[in-house]
Amino acid sequence: MNDEIIKTKKEELQNAVDNEKLNEISQDVGVVYSTIENDVVITLNKELNKQTKDLEKWKQYHLNPINQAKLKKQIDKIVSRGEKAASKVVEASRNIIGVYERSKASSNIEKGSLLVNTAMDNYNRSVAKIERLESSDALKESIYQQTKLGIEKGMNVVYKDGKTFRYKTYMEMAVRTNMANEVAAKQLKYGANAGIVFYLYNSMQDCAKDHQDYQGQYYYDARWESFDIKQDVKDKIAEYISSKNMMSVQEVEGAPIFLGTRPNCRHKKISVSIEQVLGTSADKLENELGISYGYFKKDKYIATSEHHKNERNIREYRDRMNQYKELAKQDPTNQNYKLEIVRNRKLIKKWEAKDLDLRKQNQWLKRDKRREYSKILVNDIGAKYNVKL
Ligand SMILES: [Zn+2]
Repeated sequence: MNDEIIKTKKEELQNAVDNEKLNEISQDVGVVYSTIENDVVITLNKELNKQTKDLEKWKQYHLNPINQAKLKKQIDKIVSRGEKAASKVVEASRNIIGVYERSKASSNIEKGSLLVNTAMDNYNRSVAKIERLESSDALKESIYQQTKLGIEKGMNVVYKDGKTFRYKTYMEMAVRTNMANEVAAKQLKYGANAGIVFYLYNSMQDCAKDHQDYQGQYYYDARWESFDIKQDVKDKIAEYISSKNMMSVQEVEGAPIFLGTRPNCRHKKISVSIEQVLGTSADKLENELGISYGYFKKDKYIATSEHHKNERNIREYRDRMNQYKELAKQDPTNQNYKLEIVRNRKLIKKWEAKDLDLRKQNQWLKRDKRREYSKILVNDIGAKYNVKL
């Protein structure tokens, strides 16, 4: 095969879905969503922590619909401001991966209203529980229990399909999946314009088990029959597809296979000509083009994800500690908050020590303290995508 073709094909592969880039972007957006969730929990907890000196006063305040309406407004504001910020990052990052069409911002707004409703449901449930108390003594303990629930479990939202996810987790996944699908769709769209019928998915030795049978194979664009191709060639294509029981790109990229489209999948596809497919086996073509991977640098990959997990935990426990600090400021007489501050500080130290160990074993990993603080990290993400958050 001629060197020029090989070079173009390698470039095409480079430009196909860059899964590592997608993962990085969705994690960045995930941090923004995580901040929204955290701010909602803080707001709910501070509200529950109001008027704790006296049970009757507490009930009067919290059962007052005016106060509830005020709370809902406050949460509405946090969520819509936060989701606007997240959308900005998504829009900015689309340029990086080469999807320029505007996303449907409305789908985010809809998810946001789900979060607001969940927050108000959680609040009302806590109020209903505390309202049943008969003495002021139990009040502080009960409020502590309710605030702890929000801090440790976060916001679990029930989505349309009936599945329950933590808000931040769901949004991160949704962004990742949407972008991957858009990039894959873009490749197909350009391909269709150029009359490309076939694609070759590359292979790698250490791919996920359930992708082993799908990698290194040819697939066809399901819309190929509408392409401008001579009838005799069309007949050959139809015969070839059916004789090989070939699947379409759309089938393998969609549920449940998600070849090249799901998180952590590094498979990519390139367009191939009709002559190549009819004349050369996928294996042979892949070899000639030199687009199959050996083993991915697995150790490095694992250590990096471990490092990011440690940073995430450090941030999480710091956020929790700060939540209790806020509550302790509001009610310095509640000893539980003080104990929680101590407990969470210990957990921060534990994860810091874990990360130090990891860095000692993997000298190339560097500590980036800024990533251990949610607020700083959000600012850095804003700077990275050049948007104000
Ligand atoms: Zn894969």
